[in-house]
Amino acid sequence: MNSRDRASPRPFVTVTEVGTRDGLQIESTYIPAARKIEMIDRMIAAGMTSIEVTSFVSPKAVPQLQDAEEVLAGITRRPDTRLSALVPNLRAAQRAMRTSVDAAVLLCSASNTHNHKNLNRTVDESLAGLPEIAACLSESVDGRAPKMLIGAIATTFGCPFEGDIAVDDVLKIARAYVAAGVTEITLSDTTGMATPLNIRSMVRSMRDAVPPQVELALHLHNTRGIGLANVIVGLEEGIRRFDSSVGGLGGCPFAPGATGNICTEDLLFLLDESGFDTGVDLEAAIAVAHEMEASLGKRLVGQVMRAGPRLNLHAADTVATAAG
Ligand code: ZN
Repeated sequence: MNSRDRASPRPFVTVTEVGTRDGLQIESTYIPAARKIEMIDRMIAAGMTSIEVTSFVSPKAVPQLQDAEEVLAGITRRPDTRLSALVPNLRAAQRAMRTSVDAAVLLCSASNTHNHKNLNRTVDESLAGLPEIAACLSESVDGRAPKMLIGAIATTFGCPFEGDIAVDDVLKIARAYVAAGVTEITLSDTTGMATPLNIRSMVRSMRDAVPPQVELALHLHNTRGIGLANVIVGLEEGIRRFDSSVGGLGGCPFAPGATGNICTEDLLFLLDESGFDTGVDLEAAIAVAHEMEASLGKRLVGQVMRAGPRLNLHAADTVATAAG
């Protein structure tokens, strides 16, 4: 059944696939643009309506994403597909404006140290640059619509260099994003330091601080094995947007110890089994994960891609018998 069927009694949750951006940026093997396009096309065909395709980062900093424009131009869209890309600075915004990307993800870390390593500037310098970047993205060029603005706050739940992050440091960035015109804010757990308790308190603080029409999303990593526990708390707090990567690919090249995003198929399984509608065909997403594994030549950490989406009762019987 199509997930966006309005008669559906199940609340809809949007899953944003970030595998070709967050998932691949740490991979040393260059995945050709054609292969990335094929992966994205297949995720869109599986029902995924939101894809964070790439980043307009300097190709020198992240060689894997040197093909941002080529990948964006090659994707076969459906009418309801939203393609987004990271826009870390003004030069990136100027590049984004020459593409058909729908949404620009602005970037700032709550931690000064991480922001410096990631973007080579302080938090205050990043925030001071926001109006100019937003103005560039809000132009209508060659008949193209202005870009939708999303604000991502990296290291929201902790920083590998600075440790705990003060709530006010996160809210300061959120307010600057709102002033710059973002309609969505992504709270990013860049290095998997979030716990159910701080997800709950941060989402509540954020809700109190930003206008209700600004949607909140969670970008979680499974570094300490509690990524999906954090999703459940996010759902309880009303979050209906989550980022994930196929097969659980991922890791930030500028944060030591960072591991993969929460895994798309595992997240889809959890959402399906928890009474939410995602519109994505889980079996099709699993097939993409297996292909990604073959492309990279390494085993991915996704678990539903191994176990299958349903409990195999026959196999369970066999195990029980063999175990006596
Ligand atoms: Zn990430």
